[in-house]
Amino acid sequence: MKGLMQDSPLLISSLIEHAERHHGDTEVVSRRVEGDIHRYHWRDVARRARQLANALDALELAFSDRVATLAWNGYRHLELYFGVSGSGRVLHTINPRLHPDQVAWIANHADDQVLCFDLTFLPLVQTLHAKCPGIRHYVALCDAHALPVDSGIPNLIAYEDWIGAQPGEHAWRSFDEDSASSLCYTSGTTGNPKGVVYSHKSTILHAFAGALPDVMALSARDSVLPVVPMFHVNAWGLPYGAALTGCKLVLPGSALDGKSVYELIEAEAVTFAAGVPTVWQMLLDHLHAGGLRFSTFSRTVIGGAACSTAMIEAFQRRYGVEVLHAWGMTELSPLGTLCSLKRKHLALPLDAQMNLRLKQGRAVFGVDTKIVGDGGEALPWDGRTRGNLLVKGPWVVRDYFKNEGGSPLVDGWFPTGDVATIDADGFVQITDRVKDVIKSGGEWISSIDIENIAMAHPAVRMAACIGIPHPKWDERPVVAVVKKVDASLTRDELLAFYEGKIAKWQVPDDVIFVDAIPLGATGKMLKTRLREQLAGLGGG
Ligand code: ADP
Repeated sequence: MKGLMQDSPLLISSLIEHAERHHGDTEVVSRRVEGDIHRYHWRDVARRARQLANALDALELAFSDRVATLAWNGYRHLELYFGVSGSGRVLHTINPRLHPDQVAWIANHADDQVLCFDLTFLPLVQTLHAKCPGIRHYVALCDAHALPVDSGIPNLIAYEDWIGAQPGEHAWRSFDEDSASSLCYTSGTTGNPKGVVYSHKSTILHAFAGALPDVMALSARDSVLPVVPMFHVNAWGLPYGAALTGCKLVLPGSALDGKSVYELIEAEAVTFAAGVPTVWQMLLDHLHAGGLRFSTFSRTVIGGAACSTAMIEAFQRRYGVEVLHAWGMTELSPLGTLCSLKRKHLALPLDAQMNLRLKQGRAVFGVDTKIVGDGGEALPWDGRTRGNLLVKGPWVVRDYFKNEGGSPLVDGWFPTGDVATIDADGFVQITDRVKDVIKSGGEWISSIDIENIAMAHPAVRMAACIGIPHPKWDERPVVAVVKKVDASLTRDELLAFYEGKIAKWQVPDDVIFVDAIPLGATGKMLKTRLREQLAGLGGG
């Protein structure tokens, strides 16, 4: 017997319709690339998304055609999120920090038909345009008067002209909820990037899950600041979650330095923000230097790379901001696990709670997790045994775009490429990426553990641990450290700091002081580059 409930597909257009009807007068605030603040409301997002849908119809773009963006977090990008997907086309958000050749490769691979870009990226688009003959329309996300006169890009139009010519009415089409809604490429640290194609259904289920109390707890009382870029895994789903729950949305544009982010948090009474550790470090540095405090900011989700104890403690103890450490991937839309404590943990001493918060947390409903050994055997959830982390669920990738690389699944599970432990409560702790694991004398050393200890030293601003070849032990850990401005620290002082915190054989062989640690296009430490830079140190 079938259920007798209504059959209404889960479509992204329903999110913006809901936000308009029920939260029409809730604000969406953006810092524009021009530097000024733009304010409007969810009802305006909805109307302009409809104008955009009409403009796409006028170009006669077919269902599932790709519309690409090279844009910061801002209101026009938000309209593209809803107008492009809502009208049945696929939104392809490109990471502008990638190398121009990689951006061109991605745009060609995706068969992008339209490219919408912030004027900051004009020089990049000028180099792209000869390499991407498939892109038929270029749209600058600006007013007509800001359009450069001699851009060299044929058919360049201003977004405001383009959608301004269209009526504000549009009847959103209904279609299969499994249709593609958006496309993100993985950063491709090994080989070519691969496209992950989200569906309307996966996006809506992910938005529901992300809003839950033990996940990001989004509500119509929140003012939400996604510092994580909208070009990186859909800003962790926050634009959709914000429409679903009707929170105020604050979009930071290109100004991600500590001062700009702090000022926005204070001015817009932000309660919840999301970011990667490298960006949050800039915010903490700014607070520390100025002796500042937050007035309203109370929760932050930190993920994309391991968050150190030092960072969790600074946010929680010094500034009263609860840290929700989360783990995810492009292939997971991105939410996989999030660290919110259980009732029984509230009775634990604060230090024990802190140790727990360092973990990446428990699976969000919808994501199934397991760890396996190299032979594929399931490993115990004892919080100690490390294994390859596999996941499955309705917002986890099944195949990459154009079936690139063949099926990624193993017996229906997606191998994440991460090494983790899982404890009896289901809390996952990522110890490494498979390719970053340090194997010393047949044992594994977690580079994340070593980095965390270094980061707890008051003189350390950033630390990255890599394995270097060793004739006897195969590999030994070495830690590259960026000191805080004006701090003094010697190699021996830092090595002594490891004593008692970690087994002797896990203590790094050396400390190398560097001016900066190379970062990839998503703000994560680029250990491949660091290894190249530090090459030649092995042998000792
Ligand atoms: P890419 O895989 O293209 O670098 P993603 O953003 O998809 O970009 O990165 C996912 C990876 O980032 C995960 O597989 C994991 O290694 C790492 N990661 C994400 N969140 C965390 C976290 N909280 N702690 C440790 N590593 C994390």
